[in-house]
Parts: sequence; C-alpha cells; structure tokens
Amino acid sequence: MPVVCYPSHTLPPAFLPDLSDASVDDQVIVPARDAAAFRLRAGQAFRIQSIGGPQVGDLNLFNARDLTERFYSGKTRALHGTHVSTGDRLWSSFPSLRPMATVIEDSLAWYGIDADGASVHDVIGTRCDPYTNRLLTGADYHHCCHSNLTRALAAEIGRDLHEAEMLVHDVLNVFMCTGFMRDSGQYFMKASPVRPGDSITFLAEIDLLGVLSACPGGDCGSEHSSDTAACFPLQVDILTLPASALNGWAPPSVSSYDRSHGA
Ligand SMILES: [Zn+2]
Repeated sequence: MPVVCYPSHTLPPAFLPDLSDASVDDQVIVPARDAAAFRLRAGQAFRIQSIGGPQVGDLNLFNARDLTERFYSGKTRALHGTHVSTGDRLWSSFPSLRPMATVIEDSLAWYGIDADGASVHDVIGTRCDPYTNRLLTGADYHHCCHSNLTRALAAEIGRDLHEAEMLVHDVLNVFMCTGFMRDSGQYFMKASPVRPGDSITFLAEIDLLGVLSACPGGDCGSEHSSDTAACFPLQVDILTLPASALNGWAPPSVSSYDRSHGA
C-alpha cells in the first residue's frame, strides 16, 4: 500500500486574507519570450494574470534580503503534490525552509486533475533552458526561460550574467498543464486551459524578489525552446492589503533546526 511520504496535516494552516479591499500599487508587464523582475514586502500580494492569449509563466522567488534563500520546488512538491493551488505554500531552500508565498486565489482551480492525470501550476518541471535544448537538438536558442530569468535577474540585482545565472533555480510553472505519461513516467505538457483574465494570486510571507518568464512555449501545447509557438505577455500586479485583512497573520520564522547535524 502506498503511504504519503510527507503527511502535511501538521503544517500550520494557510492564512487566506480577504482581497476585496486590496489596492493595486504597481504593475509589471512581462514581455513575450522575455522575463521581468518585481519586488514586494511581506504582507503584500502579487497576482499573475494572463493577458492577450494563453501563456505559461516560469516563476523564480528569492528572499529580497538574502538571495541564497530561494524557492525550493522539490520540497514544495514533496509537501503539497505535483501541482499547487489555493492554500498551498511555496517553500524556501535549506536552512530556512519556510513559506515564501501562499497561493490565496487561483482562477484555474476548477481544472482539477484531468483524464490524462494532468493539472495546472506544476512543481515537477524545471525551466526550459539552452543546455538541455543543445543536448537534445544540437541547436542554440537564447530565449528559454532559464536565459530570460538570467538576463532579468542580472539587470535587477546589478550583477553580471554568469553570477546571476547561478542564482536561477527550478520554477513554479504558472498556468502550465502537465503530468506524467502512464507508460513511461515521462514528464508531459499539454495546451494550458489559461485564458486572458485568468490569474493566480500569492500572499508574500517574506520580502520577495520575484522574476517571471513568459515561456517561449506560449501555452506549451506543442513545443518550447523555439520561436514557433504563439506567445503573449503576462501581467504582474502588486497588491497592498488593508491592515484589517492581515489580522492574525505574521511572517514565518526560519526553520528552528539547530544545524548541528549530529556532529
Ligand atoms: Zn519555458
């Protein structure tokens, strides 16, 4: 009998604030086949919205005060499953291991898990990148999400491309519709159900630097790592919540493990 590896019922409950009186304080447009950075404070929220046409986004998140603390897609997957939706958290890397952001609204929650075993917003993919593309096709393509994230991060933090590249990490595949082939277990993608107006909204649990790439795969219904697919921009709104909406919420502490490792 299968047993859930990480039963999550002992996690502190997610805080889901009322957004009805939130105001949009800033807006960032991520151009198609490119990436853009945004910052927000703990207790603010950010909303990623589809505009123009079906489009998948690759999201990196950093602690804005310490770039070594970043989104840990593998542990997020281990705790919440292959895809995230309302109430799930995006966890940070060791030694902090704390929620960086919480999904507080998801207009695609209705999609659930389809007949192919696919769902949306996955933490199973990596990010499309020029190294794997060269490995598999022998060709070079410079607008993979990995490169888009690298360029946007380098510009945002004022470091060179090679330094910034080492900080780019596996992503939350926003709006991407994915699963595993039943016969081979291989990662698959299919056209995202996202349409203009759809969005996913996150509460920032800590001060965040986010970088979002509008994947060259567009809706990722056919291929990525090329200029073939129809691609569209994505919009990121930074939302400020009234203090009353945050009653009962507090930023999470870093892990209390003492890091002695038994030595
Ligand atoms: Zn991509």
